[in-house]
This record gives sequence, C-alpha cells and structure tokens, in this order.
Amino acid sequence: MLERGEVANSWRTERWDSLRLLTPNWQSRLPGHRYDGPDPDGYMTAGEVTDFIERFAAVSRAPVRTGANVTSVRRADDGYRVIASGGEIACRTVVIASGACNQPSVPRFSGEVPASVEQLTPFDYRDPDKLPDGGVLVVGASATGVQLAAELQRSGRPVTLSVGEHVRLPRTYRGRDVLWWMDASGVWDQRYDELDDLTRARRLPSPQLAGTPERTTLDLNVLASMGVELVGRWAAVRDGRALFSGGLRNMFSLADLKLRRLLDTFDEWALTSGRDAEFGPPERLAPTGVPVSSRLQIDLGSGEIRSIVWATGFRPGYGWLDVSVVDAKGQLQHEGGVVGSPGLYALGLPVLRRRRSSFICGIEDDAREVTGHLAGYLAGR
Ligand SMILES: Cc1cc2nc3c(=O)[nH]c(=O)nc-3n(C[C@H](O)[C@H](O)[C@H](O)COP(=O)(O)OP(=O)(O)OC[C@H]3O[C@@H](n4cnc5c(N)ncnc54)[C@H](O)[C@@H]3O)c2cc1C
Repeated sequence: MLERGEVANSWRTERWDSLRLLTPNWQSRLPGHRYDGPDPDGYMTAGEVTDFIERFAAVSRAPVRTGANVTSVRRADDGYRVIASGGEIACRTVVIASGACNQPSVPRFSGEVPASVEQLTPFDYRDPDKLPDGGVLVVGASATGVQLAAELQRSGRPVTLSVGEHVRLPRTYRGRDVLWWMDASGVWDQRYDELDDLTRARRLPSPQLAGTPERTTLDLNVLASMGVELVGRWAAVRDGRALFSGGLRNMFSLADLKLRRLLDTFDEWALTSGRDAEFGPPERLAPTGVPVSSRLQIDLGSGEIRSIVWATGFRPGYGWLDVSVVDAKGQLQHEGGVVGSPGLYALGLPVLRRRRSSFICGIEDDAREVTGHLAGYLAGR
C-alpha cells in the first residue's frame, strides 16, 4: 500500500478545524474494527477520525509504505509498472484507492473575480479568523457549504450563500439519526446496477448535514433564520459582477419534493418491517422558505464581499495515471470498481457498488467484492 503522506492523510491535512463527521460514531466501521467509545450517537472530529484509521492500520497490520507518492502507473508486459518516491514496482494488479476528493472543484470563472476579493477552497480554509473581516460569499449549499456558512455567520461576518442543486435532510427523523434510517431502510445499500440513473446518482451532492453535539438540522431555513442571505446558483462573472440565476423557488421545491419522497420511503419501510411502533409519528418539514426577493447580482468590486469560499465540491486527481481510463471530465471509467484495463481496480468512489460506497461504512462490502474479482482475475491467468 503506497501512501504519499501518512496514514489518514486526507483527514490530517485536508479538513477544516471544526469539521466533524456527518455520519454518527456507530456508523464508523471498517472490517473488524468499529467505534467502541462512550458516545455511539456522537460525531467524530477530524482528529478522532485520524486516530480511528491509524488504529485500524495498526490492528489490521496493513503493509503501508508512507511518504510514497505515486507519480506514474502505466501498463507493462505482465501488468503495471508503478513509479513512486522510493522506486519502481512491477505488479500484476493495481487497486486505485487514492480518494474521490483530492482537489476542490472550482468553476473556471473564479479567474475573473477581482483581485481585491480573497478566494479560498475548503482545502485552504481552517477557521473564520483566517478570513478578512467583512462579507463572505459561500458558493455551494451542500454539506461543506452549509457548515462553513453557519460557522462564518456565527463569527459575525455577513454571509451570502449561493445555492445550486442540493440534498436537504433533517438531522433526526422520528427520534433517530437520519443516517440510521438510510442504513436500516436499505436505501444506502441500493446497488449501482439497480439504480435508474447511475450517472446522476454518482454526481449527487453531499447532503445538508452537520455532525454537532446538539444533533440539530442545518438546512436553508435554519441558515436563513441565522441571517444568511440566500442567492441562486452563481452562473458567471461579468464586468466584475457575480451573476446568479433566479431559479431559487424551483431548486427549493425539487429538494423539498425529494426529501418528502425519502421520508415516505422510510415510513413505508417502518410499516412493512413491522417496526413502525418503535418510532414517533411520521414528521414532515416546513417547505424551504423562498426569500421575498433574491439578488441576481453582486458587484464584487464594491467592498461588500471581502472573501469567497468555494464549496463547489471535490474531484479525484489522476494526473499520475498513465492508462487511458479517465474520461474528459476527469472521472475514472469503471464498472463497479472494475476498471477497463486488465487487473486495474478502484475503491472509494461515489456509488462504486452501493449508495454508501464513498462513506467509511461503505468500504467493507465494496472491498470484499472488488478484491473477490481481483483474486478471480489472478487465479484465471
Ligand atoms: C469534507 C469531507 C467530509 C467527509 N465527511 C464524511 C463523513 O462524515 N463520513 C464518512 O463516512 N465519510 C466522509 N467523507 C468521505 C471520506 O473522504 C471518506 O469516508 C474516506 O476518507 C475515504 O477514504 P479513502 O481512503 O477512499 O480516500 P481518502 O481519505 O481521500 O484517502 C486517499 C489517500 O490516497 C492518498 N493518495 C492520493 N493520491 C496519491 C498518490 N498519487 N500517491 C500516493 N498516495 C496518494 C492520499 O494522500 C490519501 O491519504 C468526507 C469527505 C470530505 C472531503
């Protein structure tokens, strides 16, 4: 196992200070290793995740070579030739487990933002004190965006949040964590080959959730009540002005509709599994409130916005992969983790084999199936 940094590198170096997992502690499970602390319903800090993964590396005696940056993987006669700091390795198979979130994804028009406005990605952001005083424009309203918008607003800075397509979820539903419902109802185990639109499922943004000790919901209604201004999707920069699309109402209705359907699925599961009486009555959330009027543009040169935080998602990085299996959008082409080059495999990508694939609790089942395929491939040669 080659790791460019240390074990749990992404959790050590690519997370902001206040980040906690949005998955509850009991859901942090790796093969033969699970959370056994006093707070199963709490949410780990990034430091605790690092410790958790480090302990797993130790108990599983994973043969990790740290400080080994892979700079090239290319096809060779009988498999692959891997170049890493420390030397070259010849191998018959390669499993790409380099992560789904290696780089922040930032729109190209960020280059047209006036230099007077500071720009940060979640990889640069650590805490509000590192930002200049004054208004902040947070772009993207998925897990990262809503969490940072709330933190920045609490720091006393006026926050404007640019909202695109998003997934709205309550923190708890009928007395249980919403991710308990995803788990128990089987939604998280829906397989990649059973989904109607796999491409869409793989592109779905992360849910509007935060793991806080208070277990509170962090949706757009909560942010608006805190004083965060909501604007539409940021579409372009023209003459130093940020232009936002005006479709907030439609975007909110879509997220509310999908939320209602998901809660219906949970309720139906509770009834058909005979467990309905264990929970409180079904709940429905108030629709997302549409602002009376939302601004369609902001003059970025006016001084109102002093910094921009791009919470517009992450993407994997395959600059080191010299095998033509990456599409024009930078996504690895694979079928359930089996990449279209003999002996090449992948793990840890969105909906690789199940909806839970890119979460910590998703790796065990995926890894078993993918390594099963790999073992079959080696045996058949
Ligand atoms: C902001 C954020 C919040 C998240 N919150 C949650 C959560 O609440 N719950 C949850 O279950 N999941 C969460 N995730 C998903 C989380 O990333 C995964 O659960 C988990 O870290 C994935 O592990 P991984 O090993 O597949 O990828 P990563 O953690 O990204 O690890 C990939 C490793 O590959 C190494 N690497 C990459 N390229 C090279 C190279 N060329 N050579 C050598 N080494 C290389 C990296 O250094 C890194 O250590 C979150 C992700 C992000 C970005």
